[in-house]
Amino acid sequence: MRRVAALFCALLCLASCSPAPKKHSSTLFAMDTVMELQVYGDESVLASSAELIKELESELSATDEHSAVYAFNHRSAGLSGPALDVLSRAMDISRLTGGALDVTVYPLVLAWGFTTGQYRVPDKTEIAGLLEKVGYEKLTGLTLPEGAMIDLGAVAKGYASDKVVELWREKGVTSGLMSLGGNVYALGVKPGGDKWTVGVRDPFSDGLLGSVEVENAAVVTSGGYERYFEENGVTYHHIIDPKTGYPANSGLASVTIVGPDGTLCDGLSTAFFVMGLDAAAETWKSYGPGFEAIFVTDDREIYITEGLESSFSVMGSYDKSDVRVIRRGQN
Ligand code: FAD
Ligand code: MG
Repeated sequence: MRRVAALFCALLCLASCSPAPKKHSSTLFAMDTVMELQVYGDESVLASSAELIKELESELSATDEHSAVYAFNHRSAGLSGPALDVLSRAMDISRLTGGALDVTVYPLVLAWGFTTGQYRVPDKTEIAGLLEKVGYEKLTGLTLPEGAMIDLGAVAKGYASDKVVELWREKGVTSGLMSLGGNVYALGVKPGGDKWTVGVRDPFSDGLLGSVEVENAAVVTSGGYERYFEENGVTYHHIIDPKTGYPANSGLASVTIVGPDGTLCDGLSTAFFVMGLDAAAETWKSYGPGFEAIFVTDDREIYITEGLESSFSVMGSYDKSDVRVIRRGQN
């Protein structure tokens, strides 16, 4: 009996006395944004993650003349590998969101100067002309119609986060956190067993509006405050409504999507920002489990889907009473 007790004590000590895995972190600049990676355990996985992200960037960038997407847009090659994979995921999200996400919006993104930094407001005739080249449903059999071009920027960082998580899992990492620009992914839980707390940016200030507790989930935000310019007192941001050709103006200031599929979360954060609260809430209701959402309206109201009720908390200038819950059973 005493021997059993001693063995039990030894096992207990092994479990509680083994040193906590060491935290390793790194920062890199890729996909035109700062990326932060943090893992517990195997440090070497950081370098291979950075390599993987750089490889994906060189395939998926619309502006890099050596990328697969650039070659496809300039009709010098068909699409294969990760670029094809991302395109097919994006097409699914386009269908799910009635074309609010549309990778063929690129001629408009270019005209507004969002990838070049040479910002301008195109006139109505130019926008009407460019809209004729837009339409994901025209992209059949993987050939681009005359004048059409694609941009995977609305889903590429989410896809990159999924691929990095895959690599971490393969290498035996069970706990880690990454932030690829606005795209966060939390693998597992923190070494102590607590869930990860991820801040949600306040679209009206540099601070946070709240936080969400997650485990094995992406937390992705799209907002009009990320990339924009002002002309004659009007602000124009980078998320384009593929139906109008103008920056989306749906009454939302930001959309955050939480779920295990980073690519889906990234695509939906952009699409829901275009669709507006009502249409986005309907899409969430009909999709079923798989992701949750946080919407912030231009009037500073916060709406969360019911799956986040116990994991989301507000902070800063916001109060619990600013938060409304969207439920599946409700109209
Ligand atoms: P998201 O909401 O996820 O995506 C918005 C972006 O998607 C827009 O910037 C636009 O490019 C595109 N978009 C707009 N409306 C729609 C729509 N309705 N449907 C689909 N797509 C839409 N930026 C540079 O300035 N120079 C670069 O060289 C450059 N290289 C990049 C390379 C890669 C591989 C990636 C992923 C991004 C790169 N970027 C570059 C940044 C890119 O242009 C976008 O600004 C960025 O991807 C936006 O991400 P987000 O999370 O802020 O917004
Ligand atoms: Mg996105």
